Amino acid sequence: MGRVKVYPIFLPQWGCPHRCVYCNQRASTSGAVDLWAREGGLACVEDRIDGLAREAGTREAPGELAFYGGTFTALPVQWIEKLLHRAGGYVDGGLFSGIRFSTRPDALPKHICDLLPRYPIRTVELGVQSLSNEVLRRSRRGYGAGDVAGAVLRVRERGWKLGLQLMSGLPGDSRERFLGSVRDAIGLAPDFVRIYPTLVLRDTRLAHWQSSGSYAPLTLEEAVEWSAAALEMFQSSGIPIVRMGLHPDPELLKPGVILGGPFHPAFGYLVKVRWWRDRVDRWCAERDGVHHGRHVILKAAREVVSELLGPSRENLSHWRARWGWAHVLVEPMADWPSSRFEVCMLTRDAGAAHIGIPQAGEAR
Ligand code: SF4
Repeated sequence: MGRVKVYPIFLPQWGCPHRCVYCNQRASTSGAVDLWAREGGLACVEDRIDGLAREAGTREAPGELAFYGGTFTALPVQWIEKLLHRAGGYVDGGLFSGIRFSTRPDALPKHICDLLPRYPIRTVELGVQSLSNEVLRRSRRGYGAGDVAGAVLRVRERGWKLGLQLMSGLPGDSRERFLGSVRDAIGLAPDFVRIYPTLVLRDTRLAHWQSSGSYAPLTLEEAVEWSAAALEMFQSSGIPIVRMGLHPDPELLKPGVILGGPFHPAFGYLVKVRWWRDRVDRWCAERDGVHHGRHVILKAAREVVSELLGPSRENLSHWRARWGWAHVLVEPMADWPSSRFEVCMLTRDAGAAHIGIPQAGEAR
């Protein structure tokens, strides 16, 4: 699936039945702060729609207008209709290609789903977070995995594209449970997914649990490793991950906002670096160190070379140390698909003996 341009409007916690234990959108989202005051808030959102439509008019390809940051389908029905009507007019005018929104899996009742097809909805993102009932219960999300399956069905019935948002490291989570959620999410056949490691933000219940010792967030290493395993599973299933890690919003980066957890401004890059490391490791392990002590050339698509190398070329150091390669060079290849790589060993007569295998499958 090609990336769709998104014009986002953040409605911080609007419509949410309660504030989730990890959520503090007031502290983590800029550009949404002026929408906090409910009085005049709706008019403010309509102005924002108009502004984004003007911006979209300056672009060649239209994108989708998105309502993020709250539980869109739990807003008062008149509000939903007003906002969709406003945005829908711009879709009719060709400025947006459609509308998308995020919502909770337990907030897609039939009467709302019956109402929405009057408007040009294209994509629904479900904030699933986990498909482990134990994790959902301990995170007090207020629904179970069965509710997610029901919501997915309602989205599919209406022909909307489906995005799933998953979180790692919630209360009660483990590597096994997280990857079980990934497996179950693949079974729901979403069009795309997002993965967010759980952060501890100020003024949240999670912050309280962290300070009382009843919750410990993932380390950055754990979050990267879990996400790399998830990336491999989604890649193998042809499901794109469109985002890994929270956007480094200026509000989020202010001192005292993140109190714990695996935040990194380039989290997605670190995951891809780890994915490449694991991938080449698996390739080598399957060949039982046949290349030990050899000069190796790694070939990969030009645009993934920085992910293959890693920061400070750490992957090359790792492979040299682990597999005893005497020397390794990376050769960027123009026009290769981004998932392909080959490993070559230099022979004594300086020719290159190709021992790699092209990797099938859709790239990132
Ligand atoms: S449903 Fe989403 S936006 Fe609303 S409180 Fe929970 S995490 Fe925050």
